[in-house]
Amino acid sequence: MLQTCIFCPNTDGAFKQTNSSKWAHLLCAMWIPEVSLGNHTFMEPVMEVEKVPKTRWRLTCYICNQRMGACIQCSNKNCYQAFHVTCARRCRLFLKMKNGQGALAVLEGTLPLKAFCDKHCPPDYAEKNGIAQATRDAKRFYKRTMKGRIWADSQASALQIAATHRNAITEHPPDESQITGAKVSAVLADKKKGQPPKNVWKLPSGAPVIPQAVYDLVESALARFPIRKRKDFVAEACKYWTLKREARRGAALLKRLQLQMETFSSMELTRRNFAAMGPSGKARLTRRIEFCRALIKDLEQLKELADAVVQREEAKLEAAELEQDFVDTCYFPIFKQLQPILDKAFV
Ligand SMILES: [Zn+2]
Ligand SMILES: [Zn+2]
Ligand SMILES: [Zn+2]
Repeated sequence: MLQTCIFCPNTDGAFKQTNSSKWAHLLCAMWIPEVSLGNHTFMEPVMEVEKVPKTRWRLTCYICNQRMGACIQCSNKNCYQAFHVTCARRCRLFLKMKNGQGALAVLEGTLPLKAFCDKHCPPDYAEKNGIAQATRDAKRFYKRTMKGRIWADSQASALQIAATHRNAITEHPPDESQITGAKVSAVLADKKKGQPPKNVWKLPSGAPVIPQAVYDLVESALARFPIRKRKDFVAEACKYWTLKREARRGAALLKRLQLQMETFSSMELTRRNFAAMGPSGKARLTRRIEFCRALIKDLEQLKELADAVVQREEAKLEAAELEQDFVDTCYFPIFKQLQPILDKAFV
């Protein structure tokens, strides 16, 4: 099944889990003013979807012509054009997010976001990015692909998400970790009794529980090692993982995406049609090629460094063996001579 975003009809791009098991584009979540991200480092989960007003859910996107999800509107104060964030991205509309303060300022809500429809984008920006053509192409694309699509009521599902979350909080106060712990072990105990694995691997709070299949796999992989009470050990590790996820409100324990958001500009990572950019395309392509060359050079240096480290460690090992031999000869000279003498004696 395709992942769908609760805010827009587009199915490509980076998705983030909302505080229930629904999904949303990171881009959509960042641009819809009422929505927030629970953890700014991990850029998830997407929260406060229930705060999106009814009026926003009712807007029809002028690009894809679909009345689903939540639209943002043109920042020109005399214009009421509404569009999905991802539809706007497809038309390369002016979405001003990058500045000296970076994406984090947007997350903190300290930066006013500016988005313009194709008619109100700054003229030089519109020309440089071929917005008129991109908008025509996008409209044609959506006319073809979205024809006759029927959507679930987006606001209803958003409210449902909020309700699930509220229940989870009242049933499940996050600070009473002992209660939570009991529930986790209850779930694990159920599975140990040999019941078929459940389809739902989540606590009411949204923190996932490790599926039986993964538990079995890890347990059998550990069979090679001498671990006492192996089953208990794995069960404890699973519980710890779930509690940790719960403590982070369901956010992943490993960092992702941070690299893409902060270290590189999107120019360096995405595929672009440089020919279509006109005169500025060549300069950008050159910049990109230079970046790649620098990257290759860095990697070659890294490889040399790694080879040098291997050599150094080999030399260290040799030195250590020599030293051992030396110490043995100095302190236990007789022991070293003993074996050859005994060999001779018994021949
Ligand atoms: Zn979306
Ligand atoms: Zn749209
Ligand atoms: Zn406008």
